[in-house]
Amino acid sequence: MPANDPLISLQNVSRIFRSGEEQVRVLDGVTLSVRQGEMIAIVGPSGSGKSTLMNLLGGLDIPDSGEICIAGIDTTRASHEHLAALRSSHIGFIFQRYHLMPYLTAAENVAVPAQYTAMRENVQRQRAAYLLAHLGLEDRMTHKPSQLSGGQQQRVSIARALMNGASVILADEPTGALDAQSGQEMMAILHGLHQSGHTIILVTHDRDVASQAERIIEISDGKITADLPNRHVQPASGPVVLLPAANTGRSSWRESFHDAVKMAWRALNGHRIRALLSMLGIIIGVASVITSMAVGEGAKQKIIRDISALGTSTLSIHPGLGWDNPRPDFGNALSDEDVRLLSELPYVANISPVFNRIMEAQVEGRQMFINITGVNARYFAVRDLSLEAGRKFNEHDVETREPVLLVDAATANTLFHNDKNPTGKSLYFNNVPFRLVGITASKGLKIAGGGLNAWMAYTALQERLTGSMPVAAIEVQVAKGMSLKEAQRHIEYVLDKAHGRRDFFIETDSMMLETIQKTSDSLTLLIAAIAGISLIVGGVGVMNIMLVSVAERTHEIGIRLAVGARAADIMRQFLIESMVVCLFGCAIGVVVTFVAGTFFSLLTTQFEMVFTPLPILYSCGFSALIGLGFGYFPARFAARMKPTEALARE
Ligand code: ADP
Ligand code: MG
Repeated sequence: MPANDPLISLQNVSRIFRSGEEQVRVLDGVTLSVRQGEMIAIVGPSGSGKSTLMNLLGGLDIPDSGEICIAGIDTTRASHEHLAALRSSHIGFIFQRYHLMPYLTAAENVAVPAQYTAMRENVQRQRAAYLLAHLGLEDRMTHKPSQLSGGQQQRVSIARALMNGASVILADEPTGALDAQSGQEMMAILHGLHQSGHTIILVTHDRDVASQAERIIEISDGKITADLPNRHVQPASGPVVLLPAANTGRSSWRESFHDAVKMAWRALNGHRIRALLSMLGIIIGVASVITSMAVGEGAKQKIIRDISALGTSTLSIHPGLGWDNPRPDFGNALSDEDVRLLSELPYVANISPVFNRIMEAQVEGRQMFINITGVNARYFAVRDLSLEAGRKFNEHDVETREPVLLVDAATANTLFHNDKNPTGKSLYFNNVPFRLVGITASKGLKIAGGGLNAWMAYTALQERLTGSMPVAAIEVQVAKGMSLKEAQRHIEYVLDKAHGRRDFFIETDSMMLETIQKTSDSLTLLIAAIAGISLIVGGVGVMNIMLVSVAERTHEIGIRLAVGARAADIMRQFLIESMVVCLFGCAIGVVVTFVAGTFFSLLTTQFEMVFTPLPILYSCGFSALIGLGFGYFPARFAARMKPTEALARE
């Protein structure tokens, strides 16, 4: 830009506002140029278009016709980004009502324009302090606007206008809300800035104030009626020489993210009760998701523990190639020899052959069918069966084919009705007497079929009742430290080699466990999904509050746009604010859940909650997504505001 070109030039500029059907031509063919370093007063009655003109001069608004050039940039053709950059680096606005953000301190208010530049945070702090000190507010840095007088607030807003080193100061009725004394101080500062080279344009309806400018432009009904130099001006103070700002262009994505998070935090902190209320839905949602998943996990682990009590470390070997492929020709595939062979393997803790036969028994004159299982003395260890009464049979009983048997508790009840301890009594199978020596305790979940069950030594079964019969199954308890799958693979290998062919199949309890695990997992997920709905409802609450917040902070949005924020910056700020609400709500929800869970576990042992990290991660991620999703609409609403309308809104 050549030195003697005007800094700002307006060519035949018109601005028309529509209200309903009516069109109001607020500015009508204004032509005007402002040179660098001038001090101009624009005067005129209220409603004559002064503020409208001021907004056009600062690139905050664009005309409906005509051309405006600011610092070499044609504002009618420039992009929104470009205009924001222009405002950020060249223009400083001062408003009649100061327009400070109530939840920020004086120093923080001053630093707002620097948020949209690459100025480093410590430099920002230093410069804000420097400017405030220069304007006589060194002891008011950490005061909120509500703790400052009007004159002090206006000085804070001057400092803000100077934050990015603006060369042009646009002041719209800067003394309008001040008492005479503060008004004079204000004018003294503007004079000082003018004398140090700033271009000052001030709007006023006060003739006294106007008479202090070098050039007075009168405006009436949107037209310039006079534009005269004022030779009688008495400078009210010496120059205010300020350090220039280190203007370093736009802030990086990371810096603006950091600033936005900080601002979001401050804004929420300024409305704590409301923020807490808006988080309530999220808190409840997160708490119910995590709780339902913790209860589900607790229930699952309990079921698995119960089933494990039945022997998850056991596997059983059957003849044939599967329940669906029994292969009668393989009926004799398993033998005592296999039991002996497998019992030598280091990871086989206990092993027993199993023979089955259903036989009719006579008990105290009654007849009934009993499911007899012939096993060895290790069987009770394989199945982890404990006794309710009497004893198990031992190796000696097996060797000598003792006619003794055990029944389970339910069977004992059926057989001997009211007899508290029936051990020692006899049962007859084909008139062969067997003495009842023990009753096994029923435990955990009962998954074997019902009916009457008795166990006897397999040697006694075959010798005394059935004669030689094929091995129905071999049950193996795998030692701790060896996985069932691995044991299964190895046993298959050993038996394949011994038999010379595959004529058996192996079943493990872990298969059933897997099924139960999957079922309970999907059940838990279903419950969590239902609980997740409350999170979404919480999101609607957040959206609601964000919309209120945006509406309430319209001025703030206008100020931010005036000091150089782009629409994208506003969008980001409100999105982050809504995400901060949701994530903070989530954090509270997690804490609430833990506290409630601990309390709960003190009260009852029926249920237990098992917290795993995954649901917490999920609900936090989901909360952030909800913040983004439900914050989008309010944020877009904020970002689409026109700066002049946002500032004018009451
Ligand atoms: P001044 O600052 O001189 O008092 P303004 O420039 O604020 O006047 O307003 C001039 C006229 O334009 C007023 O009649 C006002 O009602 C109208 N006006 C200003 N802004 C708008 C707008 N955004 N929409 C409609 N009318 C507006
Ligand atoms: Mg006005």
